[in-house]
Amino acid sequence: MGYYRGRDGIELMGTLVKHAEEQHPSVSACAVTARPEDDVLRARIRGQIDRWDKRLVILAHHYQRKEVVPFGNFVGDSYYLSKVASQQQRAEHIVFCGVHFMAESARILCRPEQRVYLPNLRAGCPMADMADEIQVDDSWDWLGEHFDQKTIIPISYMNSAASLKAFCGANGGLICTSSNAEAAFRWAFARGEKVFFFPDEHLGTNTANRLCIPREQRVMFDPLHPPTDPEPFRRAKVILWKGFCHVHVNFTPDHVRQVRQHYPGVKVVVHPECTEAVVDLADAVGSTAFITKYVEAQPAGSIIAIGTEINLTSRLADEHPDKTIFELSGQNCPLCVNMFRTSLEDLANCLDELGSDSHSKEITVKPEIARDARLALDRMLELKQ
Ligand code: SF4
Repeated sequence: MGYYRGRDGIELMGTLVKHAEEQHPSVSACAVTARPEDDVLRARIRGQIDRWDKRLVILAHHYQRKEVVPFGNFVGDSYYLSKVASQQQRAEHIVFCGVHFMAESARILCRPEQRVYLPNLRAGCPMADMADEIQVDDSWDWLGEHFDQKTIIPISYMNSAASLKAFCGANGGLICTSSNAEAAFRWAFARGEKVFFFPDEHLGTNTANRLCIPREQRVMFDPLHPPTDPEPFRRAKVILWKGFCHVHVNFTPDHVRQVRQHYPGVKVVVHPECTEAVVDLADAVGSTAFITKYVEAQPAGSIIAIGTEINLTSRLADEHPDKTIFELSGQNCPLCVNMFRTSLEDLANCLDELGSDSHSKEITVKPEIARDARLALDRMLELKQ
C-alpha cells in the first residue's frame, strides 16, 4: 500500500527527481520551480528530523509535492498511512503531510499521549465537504422514516470528517478507502440489506459494478434535493451520496480514446474516483497504492497513461525513466490544490514548533467523536482484503 523510506533514503530520492516533459508535456504542467531558499528549508527539516529521531514520524500521502515526499518516513495511500499511524509505538509526534481528514484519522488511531499535526491547516478535501454531519443526519432520519435503519449499513469513505466516521461507528457501519471498498461492501452485506455510502458517488458506483450489483438496485441520494419518494430506495441495495472528487472527474472517456489513438499499446490505469465511463475503458483501476504497483509491474519500454492526481503521476514518471508515463488528460492539470498546499516551508515551520505546549498545527478530535470513529476505523482495519 505504500513504502517505508529510511532516513538514508532521503538523499536517494533527491537523485531521482527528473522532469519528464520530453515524454509528455502535461507531466510537468504543474511543476513548480525550485526556489533558492528551498535548500535552507531542507536543512531546517533535516535538522529537526535528526533532533527528534525516533520520537518523530512523518507520513506523506502519494499526492504530496515531490519536494515534500522525500521527507516521509512512510509514503502511501490513506489506507496504508492510517494503518501505519495506528502502529507507531515510539513516536511522540506524528506529522501528516496530507489533508485534514487524514490527520484526523491518524489522531483517532494513535495513542492519546501521541500528538498529530497537519503542517498546513488549510489543506482540506472538497469531496469530504460534500457530506456534512447535518446533511447525513437528516438523510438517515428520512431513511429511518421509511425503512428499518438496522437493515442499512452506513459506509463512509475515508475522505470524510471525523464526525461522519463516528456516525458510521455508532450505527453499525465502517470506513473504507479506495483500497478496500469492495471488502467493506461485502462486510456490510453480510450484516444488512442496504449499504448507505458517502460521499463519493463514483467510488460507490465503481464498487457496485465490481460486485455486479444491478443498476436497478442502486439509487442516488442528493443532499441538495432530498428525495420525497421512498420507492426507488425500497428496491435499492446501494444508496449512493451525490458527491465527487473534482480532480478525478476531469478525466473523460475521450481522453482514454485519444491516448489509445496516439500511443498504440498504451496501458491506461485510473483511480476509482473517476467516472464509471472512464473506468470501463481503462486497462486497470485501483487506489494510488495499486497504481504505483501497476506501474512498477509493467516491463521497461511500456507506455502508461495515468488517471489520477498529477503529483503521483509526475513522481512515477521520475522514478521509472525506462517507461513512458504521462497523465491521461494531456491538457488539464489534475492537481489537488489542497494536497499541494503543504510546502517545504509549512513542514519546516511545523517541525520547528514540535515540543511546544500549544502547537499551532496540532489536530484534535473530541473524545466522544474519536471513540465512535475509532470503532468504524477498526472495523476497516480488520477487513480481509
Ligand atoms: S484528490 Fe480529490 S479526494 Fe483527494 S484530497 Fe484532493 S479533492 Fe479530496
